[in-house]
Amino acid sequence: MNGDAALDIAIVGGGIIGICVAAYLAEAGRRVTVFDRTGICEETSSGNAAAFAFSDVLPLAHKGMIRQLPKWLADPLGPLSIPPAYLPRLMPWLIRFWRAGRSNRYEAGLAAQAGMMKLAEAEWMPLLDRSGARPMLREDGSLEFYESETEFRASLPGWAARQRFGIGFRHVEGEELTALQPGLSPRFVKGTFVPGWKTVADPKLLGKAVWAYAESKGARFEKARIEHVDAGQDQATLTLADGAIRRAKHLVIAAGAWSHLLAENLGDRIPLETERGYNTTLPKTAFDVKRQLIFSGHGFVITPLEAGLRIGGAVELGGLERPPNFARSKAMLKKAKSFLPGLDPSGGREWMGFRPSLPDSLPVIGRARKSPAVSYAFGHGHLGLTQAAATGRLIRDLVLGQNPALDLSAFSPNRF
Ligand SMILES: Cc1cc2nc3c(=O)[nH]c(=O)nc-3n(C[C@H](O)[C@H](O)[C@H](O)COP(=O)(O)OP(=O)(O)OC[C@H]3O[C@@H](n4cnc5c(N)ncnc54)[C@H](O)[C@@H]3O)c2cc1C
Repeated sequence: MNGDAALDIAIVGGGIIGICVAAYLAEAGRRVTVFDRTGICEETSSGNAAAFAFSDVLPLAHKGMIRQLPKWLADPLGPLSIPPAYLPRLMPWLIRFWRAGRSNRYEAGLAAQAGMMKLAEAEWMPLLDRSGARPMLREDGSLEFYESETEFRASLPGWAARQRFGIGFRHVEGEELTALQPGLSPRFVKGTFVPGWKTVADPKLLGKAVWAYAESKGARFEKARIEHVDAGQDQATLTLADGAIRRAKHLVIAAGAWSHLLAENLGDRIPLETERGYNTTLPKTAFDVKRQLIFSGHGFVITPLEAGLRIGGAVELGGLERPPNFARSKAMLKKAKSFLPGLDPSGGREWMGFRPSLPDSLPVIGRARKSPAVSYAFGHGHLGLTQAAATGRLIRDLVLGQNPALDLSAFSPNRF
């Protein structure tokens, strides 16, 4: 293309957030170019647990979670790990995380997240229809398990908080529990069924379908690594890895766990870290899983997908550079086998992804401090698939100069 002609909208990042932003802006008649170094939904957005977790409104830094930390950190392959060499770099983020758990901040974060989730559901369902992806939706709820009365009781404040925001659920035990998931180990004494929880048949295929829709509205893709960005009041400049320069009337940074590196070029220091997560996808025949199964005490889930059974989760606060440690995938698979004794653990494919995470569990959605020509759309942590359509809607509102569908102050890049 002609390097001198300014683009209308440039989006850095072809993950689920970038392509939903692309779809909303292309629908509004804007000319959109998505830049990604790999492709459309080829990285973290391709291999996640496929949940539209609309009821997952609790910020991660809550008292119940913080109480679990010593136990979790004691197990090197457990639900949470921090490589010792990374701890000094992580410390400022951890301090912010700790502070986000204080009750006033926690309550504000909970209310902001609940508002975002309402919008998430309201935006995803019609976008699924518009992009022809509705058949990929599974509406069979989720089932969360407890191994003891004590663990169940510890979960109750979280359920009460969800109830305040109108989220439906039902605690189950005995025959009702085993009917919801036959073949479960008797070590689980209670469960909670959330009927409004949804999953998709395959997050990567969903991403490709939304992108095909965006393309049909005129969006285009350019494979390139963006080395540097800059911006004035009415234009942004992108420097590609081969030295080429692109200019755009508006730039959206949706580069997942790498977004802060580009925001820093613009003078915004955003405490984005990555919560690396792992899984194994087994053949579909591995076990008959009825709906998404959630083992919160062990930090992983099992999702029945179109192409197989995905077992994984865990959090490794280990930065962007360290090689994957697939012993984590294996450890979760081993546990899954003991929780569902009939499971065939053979023939799996292991994967790791980079959750882009802010310490208060809320994404950054807003304008760059110094330039109205740049918007940020990143930091969705565990919930990027769930919140992608809502983020597309909000960024479209901002770019078109319309009143955003939500009060964006809780998501501001300036809140840190
Ligand atoms: C194990 C696991 C399970 C999960 N389960 C769920 C779930 O069930 N539900 C849910 O809602 N969320 C889930 N998530 C979280 C979700 O996957 C992420 O929040 C989401 O994928 C983030 O999307 P994104 O578009 O922001 O980032 P990404 O998918 O990482 O996309 C960013 C893109 O930007 C590109 N990029 C970065 N820097 C540059 C650059 N300089 N130049 C060019 N390209 C660049 C990257 O190549 C990448 O393709 C899970 C995550 C993990 C790891």
